[in-house]
Amino acid sequence: MKQIAILGSTGSIGRQTLAVVDAMPGQFSVVGLSAGNNVEELAKQILRHHPELVSVATAAVAANLAERLRAAGLAKLPEIQHGTSGMIAVATHPSATTLVSAAVGVVGLEATYAAVKAGKQVALSNKEVLVAAGEIVMAAARQGGIELLPVDSEHNAIHQCLRAGKHAEVKRLILTASGGPFRKTPLAEMAAATPEQALAHPNWRMGRRITIDSATLVNKGFEVIEAHWLFGMRPDQIDVVIHPQSTIHSMVEYVDGSILAQLGPTDMRMPIQYALTYPERAASNEVALDWTKLRRLDFEKVSTRRFPCLRLAREALRKMGAYPAAFNAADEVAVEAFLERRIPFSGIAEVIERVLTRTPKVKMAAIGDVLAADSEARRMAREEVERKAARTAVA
Ligand code: NDP
Repeated sequence: MKQIAILGSTGSIGRQTLAVVDAMPGQFSVVGLSAGNNVEELAKQILRHHPELVSVATAAVAANLAERLRAAGLAKLPEIQHGTSGMIAVATHPSATTLVSAAVGVVGLEATYAAVKAGKQVALSNKEVLVAAGEIVMAAARQGGIELLPVDSEHNAIHQCLRAGKHAEVKRLILTASGGPFRKTPLAEMAAATPEQALAHPNWRMGRRITIDSATLVNKGFEVIEAHWLFGMRPDQIDVVIHPQSTIHSMVEYVDGSILAQLGPTDMRMPIQYALTYPERAASNEVALDWTKLRRLDFEKVSTRRFPCLRLAREALRKMGAYPAAFNAADEVAVEAFLERRIPFSGIAEVIERVLTRTPKVKMAAIGDVLAADSEARRMAREEVERKAARTAVA
């Protein structure tokens, strides 16, 4: 039986990971869970899966959780920790063999890095880890002889397609993008889109940040960076194509012109299961593609005029150093401000661009450097948001 720990267990990926665990009785046991503030969901998960250790965002949330568990009549409470040290404790729990890294944002970085250093098998969903600190995390993985198993559906698809050939035989990776809710929206309307419109993703039900990131294509920019680190491909070997149906999760083109694609329903339980059971493939009765509903597969070129964030992501990847971390941090702040209706949709790209322009050229040698770049970029992003919000209020 595989012993697993989960960061972000109350989120969209975390819950689906536990759904996979439930669907495969006797295969996994859950030894550690980490969440933020959602004690209601976490308490339910603890009552069902009985982890030895859990962690939440703060001491106050930890106290609230303990109270809830006692009220529910749980005889023996799990150890409850909080904050970054709590996340690290969950990620490196001595009996965990596999960590599912599914917190959102850079908050999951230190714990995921600690798990890699501790030699855990890591199923990686928290893409911001590789966006912000790809070079450092991958160096640690190489040193420990660990393969990071991608949960992100595109990278999971590529991981599967790469099993067909050698690294040197790959010509390029082709990441598919749905194009989000604004693929065809007139540009002026898109610039002023509301959070409700941006949160209405046509194909996937996900957490709020990744849903907005899918509308701006920041998410696809993250995925280009993530693919660069995971698969050791040059940026010019990583293409993006719009594929509105999201049925092809991504493709690999080999040097002989042959293209391998991985297809499946838009259901994250499939890549989660793949990452949890790798290198085996386990049977699944839960997820299947219905061919009778599959009428067509369309493809379009990505317009960088419509989606400037993809260009900005490539720029950050080209410049390296602090730029990818700054790209992620600026986006996180800008998305929050957009969801609070403080800046318009078009303001997200503007804030990121301003922060990248202000980011200094520095080398990232350790996780501490990444966290410093992250907090400096956040500070600049908040300034840019204030400036934009003040201008919007005057207008
Ligand atoms: P959600 O927003 O649904 O969940 C985020 C999780 O992180 C929650 O469990 C949340 O806890 C936890 N969290 C947030 N802040 C903190 C904190 N300060 N300390 C500890 N835990 C915290 O996100 P998703 O599940 O959608 O995404 C998770 C990651 O996976 C992201 O990096 C995303 O880009 C990636 N991903 C997601 C996909 C999807 O389909 N959802 C697809 C591919 C990748 P709480 O809710 O308790 O506060």
